[in-house]
Amino acid sequence: LISRMQPFGTTIFAEMSALAQRTGSINLGQGFPDTDGPRVMLEAAKAAIDGGRNQYPPGAGVPELLEAVAGHQQRFYGLTLDPASQVLVTAGATEAIASVVLALCEPGDEVVTFEPYYDSYAATIALAGAARRTSVLRFPDFAVDEASLRAAFSSRTRLVLLNTPHNPTGKVFSRAELELVAELAREYDAWVVTDEVYEHLVFDGAEHVPVATLPGMFERTITISSAGKTFSATGWKVGWLSGPAEAVAAARTVKQFLTYVASGPFQPAVAAALGLGDDVYAGLRNSLQAKRDLLCSALAASGLQVSQPAGTYFVIADAAPLGAVDGLEFARRLPELAGVVGVPVSVFHDDQEAARTLVRFAFCKQDHVLVEASRRLASAG
Ligand code: PMP
Ligand code: GLN
Repeated sequence: LISRMQPFGTTIFAEMSALAQRTGSINLGQGFPDTDGPRVMLEAAKAAIDGGRNQYPPGAGVPELLEAVAGHQQRFYGLTLDPASQVLVTAGATEAIASVVLALCEPGDEVVTFEPYYDSYAATIALAGAARRTSVLRFPDFAVDEASLRAAFSSRTRLVLLNTPHNPTGKVFSRAELELVAELAREYDAWVVTDEVYEHLVFDGAEHVPVATLPGMFERTITISSAGKTFSATGWKVGWLSGPAEAVAAARTVKQFLTYVASGPFQPAVAAALGLGDDVYAGLRNSLQAKRDLLCSALAASGLQVSQPAGTYFVIADAAPLGAVDGLEFARRLPELAGVVGVPVSVFHDDQEAARTLVRFAFCKQDHVLVEASRRLASAG
């Protein structure tokens, strides 16, 4: 294995899911729902399979999904996109991130991102031979620190890799914070690559602000999303990106040689799902908000300090009040202590001190599962 990939070994999600299975623990580690998405979408996939749509789809994605993504950006954000040149379907958001970073970064370029960061960011930046420059979001409010963000930019900055709503913190970036990122991107003539896979998972009326809607930003912004989160279909790996034609074409060139195409029959099914009514989007959001409240209360009741998330389906808690001194060690011991699995936040950091005793829990689980996890945590706490 090449040296720059050696730090990445096995992902924490694989390690923690295997630990949950081995110990019979409730898996609140890897983020995936335990119920299926909209019935209409599932039926559309079956119809596509039975209808013979089982060969390579077009390289950019099936036309109805390109149209549906453009329609979604118009409907929710007032953005007008040309489906043929400004949208690209990818194998999940993961491939969208990889194709953009690999398409835009020369070796030695710098990528600005916030930490904690989703694990594929660091690995993908390394694959590109680029360097990451981070600004830390600190527990419990995870506010953007202007001075450290400014300090992360330099003349070598090629792009900013942003994620809102943010995994693993559950933070929804405010308009003012995004405007600061936008201002710096303009000042340093950098692209903004914005991972908005949790765009519909926001709570208490919080507003998701797509970077592409900020004044003057469409031209330098590539927006990424995925059906995995919005429609609870993480195994389908249907994602997409959108933005100016020049950047989409660059990503498409790279994407051709990563997977070429993927998920043929699932693409028309996701197109059908994107067109569903507002009630479907609101239904998922409301159900997750109740689950968030359930798990946050349980974590607090067992003595952990909780940062209540405004979005995503993750919550970060500090296990220090339970005597934890190291999050990774605590997460490995939690199955034995409580029969529950979480993910240590330090694995998403360069600055280990920033997350010393923090653990992330996923609440995208059926109520009875969360109730049982709460009961176990309470008897351990
Ligand atoms: N970005 C973020 C922030 C995520 O949380 C995830 C999923 N865990 C992804 C990207 C990857 O999405 P996909 O499964 O569609 O590749
Ligand atoms: N995105 C999910 C998470 O953060 C899982 C991703 C994965 O398994 N690679 O938990």
